[in-house]
Amino acid sequence: MLIIGSHVSFNKTNQLVGSVMEALSYGSNTFMFYTGAPQNTSRYPIDDEKTKEAYKIMQENNVNINNIVVHAPYIVNPANSDNFDFNVDFLKNELKRVEQLGINKIVLHPGSHVKLTKEQGLQNIIDTLNATIDNETNVTILLETMAGKGTELGTNFDDLKFIIDNIKYKNKVGLCLDTCHLNDAGYDVSDFDKILDEIDFKIGLNKIGCIHINDSKNPISAHKDRHENFGIGTIGFDNLIKIIYNKRLENIPKILETPYVTYDNNSKERLYPPYKFEIEMIKSQKNNPNLIDDIRKEYR
Ligand code: FE
Ligand code: FE
Ligand code: ZN
Repeated sequence: MLIIGSHVSFNKTNQLVGSVMEALSYGSNTFMFYTGAPQNTSRYPIDDEKTKEAYKIMQENNVNINNIVVHAPYIVNPANSDNFDFNVDFLKNELKRVEQLGINKIVLHPGSHVKLTKEQGLQNIIDTLNATIDNETNVTILLETMAGKGTELGTNFDDLKFIIDNIKYKNKVGLCLDTCHLNDAGYDVSDFDKILDEIDFKIGLNKIGCIHINDSKNPISAHKDRHENFGIGTIGFDNLIKIIYNKRLENIPKILETPYVTYDNNSKERLYPPYKFEIEMIKSQKNNPNLIDDIRKEYR
């Protein structure tokens, strides 16, 4: 079954109800969100009544809670040891919040080694995860494949394998593939089966818990990490559709993180969500050359 959705918001008042309603408005059957602001670690309490209400809506609309994904704030850098105690404490609390919501997947950026060596950075990631996860952890941490911007780690499957191999509770750690990041890191995503063969050989396909579907503004190996709307980037419509409908990735949630669309070609402010139109393209497997115009017409 096609499990498709996008990044959605999660606010203090409506919490999971708001997220589900937004996802349904795009025609999604899954979604991903930050439990608070992505750029900071302040978090408000989860309202269990709102969660219950959201579950009812999900049930009525065939949204399976097991396909829903939380994204950890990108401010957390597990590769840096300066904030080790804070990172572990925050991640432990975040896992509890995710569990309280009944969700079992959280995406985490492995982090950047900054002034440390790559080896030190990898060891910090391992230490952070081992200090965070215990035998009572019920949430799987999905390490995202990164573009290689700056000193980002997790840009190839040898590094990711090294991290996972050194985790005590290995069954609590998996992978989140990001098509834009893979492209920018140097993988040819037009031959996705080759990438999957490598993952299968080194880590195991069963470790893939989520796929971020994004086009890229930049050519292969650019190490930039700038997402583009569906079908109009360097990866293109046909390649993205092939990835989404690849039989080996069948029951894995696919999440769009494509950029909001600007008011017009001269403005910089991103105002309009593209997801309803992009999901339409994905479901129909038909390219929409007027994607951006259609989105502007809908929301303006
Ligand atoms: Fe991410
Ligand atoms: Fe991503
Ligand atoms: Zn990205």
